Amino acid sequence: MILKKLKTPLEWVELPDPEPGVGEIRVKVSACGVCRTDLHVVDGELPNPMIPIIPGHEIVGRIDAIGTGVEALKIGERVGIPWLGHTDGDCPYCIRHQENLCDHPLFTGYTRNGGFATAAIADARFAFPLGESGSDVELAPLLCAGLIGWRSLAIAGEGKKLGLYGFGAAAHIVAQIAKWQGKSVFAFTRPGDVAKQAFARSLGAVWAGGSDEMPPEQLDAAIIYATVGDLVPLALKAVRKGGCVVCAGIHMSDIPSFAYELLWEERQLVSVANLTRQDGIDFLGLVPKIGIVTKTTSYPLRKANEALADLRAGRFEGAAVLIP
Ligand SMILES: [Zn+2]
Ligand SMILES: [Zn+2]
Repeated sequence: MILKKLKTPLEWVELPDPEPGVGEIRVKVSACGVCRTDLHVVDGELPNPMIPIIPGHEIVGRIDAIGTGVEALKIGERVGIPWLGHTDGDCPYCIRHQENLCDHPLFTGYTRNGGFATAAIADARFAFPLGESGSDVELAPLLCAGLIGWRSLAIAGEGKKLGLYGFGAAAHIVAQIAKWQGKSVFAFTRPGDVAKQAFARSLGAVWAGGSDEMPPEQLDAAIIYATVGDLVPLALKAVRKGGCVVCAGIHMSDIPSFAYELLWEERQLVSVANLTRQDGIDFLGLVPKIGIVTKTTSYPLRKANEALADLRAGRFEGAAVLIP
């Protein structure tokens, strides 16, 4: 499914299978998760997308062709292809082990073609071997919602009382990791969304309420997955002195001005961008130990536009996954 023009529906186009170049693999896609970032790409909210583009950056599939120079992966191996699709390896950020901030990156489904397709090409160094446990559909949301969730959770620090604003694909995974780490999760949804609040409690949240409510206790940290800038001052108000608010989205509406006292007393406000390969290795290695169960809603690939519309409207719990 291809986005030919920003702010228009994706179109089904028949193309020959692409051939992998040097250092690349071709993956026969078996499942691809749908992420909020795909909506930002379609809506033209991110700078300089490749157009036309095949979106999708939570790809699970099996390698069916290998370019020259790839030694670590084999034909038939199941791999995951995440958002970070390529880095230059030699910019100041890559050298400092901050490849998530690389000066010359390529992002799957944004500046290189992604997985809303039957086949995808990937830089072999950025594909994660997934092993054989877990179904393709269950694993797909781990490739972005899980990975970005993991990175944002690490940046939120060690505090035991954790707020999650926006209880979608990422938060439903992070709630499970946080519980496994012995943290108490406080889930904030759109005001009145009692179904999502019940879903959050079913995953172990000790409290769930609307984002316009204050939690019953002060939080050590809060992570904002929703794309609503108005949540930033609310989250700052909910965290204790020295607490941390992490903005985990790639795009957010403007943050309203707020009184300095909300930030005062060493509260921190930070963002999380992209992922490193080490994040993937660390997180995917822990998934079987934690026993993460992802809640998914599957759509045939041809219904990608429907999946995106349902995501926009918050019509399902957990994550949407496209099946070619
Ligand atoms: Zn770099
Ligand atoms: Zn994503």
